[in-house]
Amino acid sequence: MAHNGACRLCGASDFEVVQREALDLAGVGATALSYGVCLSCALLQQIDSASPEQRERHYRFFASDSGPAGNATPVGTPAPHTQRMMEMLREYLPAARSVFEIGAAAGHALYCLREAGYRVGGCDPSRLAAQQAAHVFGIEVLPAGLADALPHMAGFDALYLSHLLEHLTEPLAALKLIRGAVKRGTGLVLEVPCAVAPEDLPPGWFTFEHVSYFTEATLTRALGRAGFRVLHTRVRRGVFLYPVIAAVAIAHDAEEPSASDAERASAIAFARAVAARDAAIWAETARRLDRLEGPVVVWGAGVHSSQLLAHATGPWQDALIGFVDRDSQKWGARLGRHFIQPPKIITPDATGPSIVISSFASETQIAADLAALGVPESRIVRLYDGREIAKAA
Ligand SMILES: [Zn+2]
Repeated sequence: MAHNGACRLCGASDFEVVQREALDLAGVGATALSYGVCLSCALLQQIDSASPEQRERHYRFFASDSGPAGNATPVGTPAPHTQRMMEMLREYLPAARSVFEIGAAAGHALYCLREAGYRVGGCDPSRLAAQQAAHVFGIEVLPAGLADALPHMAGFDALYLSHLLEHLTEPLAALKLIRGAVKRGTGLVLEVPCAVAPEDLPPGWFTFEHVSYFTEATLTRALGRAGFRVLHTRVRRGVFLYPVIAAVAIAHDAEEPSASDAERASAIAFARAVAARDAAIWAETARRLDRLEGPVVVWGAGVHSSQLLAHATGPWQDALIGFVDRDSQKWGARLGRHFIQPPKIITPDATGPSIVISSFASETQIAADLAALGVPESRIVRLYDGREIAKAA
């Protein structure tokens, strides 16, 4: 059970479980996960989760969409999430002149903030990310986890957390540590995925990497309990890859707000709808894959592929001969019964194994890359393109 079976926000121990999954994760191994709603505070969260060692291993070696990507470049245009958060910062914390980012990765957001005139600082547990920030952007990112970075936050006007809080196993404890490190009145701007509109969510939205699934209400309460008064929240739908919620707050006194019965009921209905939609998408995916003839290679060995193996079960898995991934750190590791190999094993012959693209976010790009390698269209299998259920997401 998560956190000794206690809710990550309020410590209660009764949950409405909506989904269970047994995932085999590349390089990490078997993990049993479950997702559900706390019957006290209404936070949707992982209940059974991976061990701290497994999470550490995943983020150090195998996370494909976080940490140092190896392609950090000094581009001047802020990423969409950075633009959204900078807008909130300017609008609701206009007096802030300095910003400290917790989980700064390779420093791209800090670079954009510095270009916009802020004094910047940050921390990230990845030493490689900190090196990239210095090398690519000339920004000093402290190679440190949260606890070691706390003394460095005090002199800043605002704290910045971009898509970090949902990854933390103990979000409230982390927010309390942060609150304790800064003086009253210090600003905070953050963005996380928003638990809203099941029809807008990609398959596999309940994921190993995301421990908490916040709404405006649960995020506001988490911040309030930690001693941050929320000034404004903004939910955005229709943004890539799923709806998000941004919040601006200031360091203040801690509060103990509680959830209403209506909110609990609504959170449970939402979580059930997500689980039902997810099951429908994976079942349709399995039907598609079962129609393939001959051997199958899956392109991509990330969390999506682990979910595919766990949820899209069927005879196609007997025809699976292996996984391919661009990330050299994964080569030689196992996913299920198979080893992960470099893309060069794929040859552009007219006939050969079907290549199933296992990615919701990057399907179009990967298909284009395969076509560029000379792989014929007849061998490229897209799981989401042209599907009604995916179009809505
Ligand atoms: Zn709770």
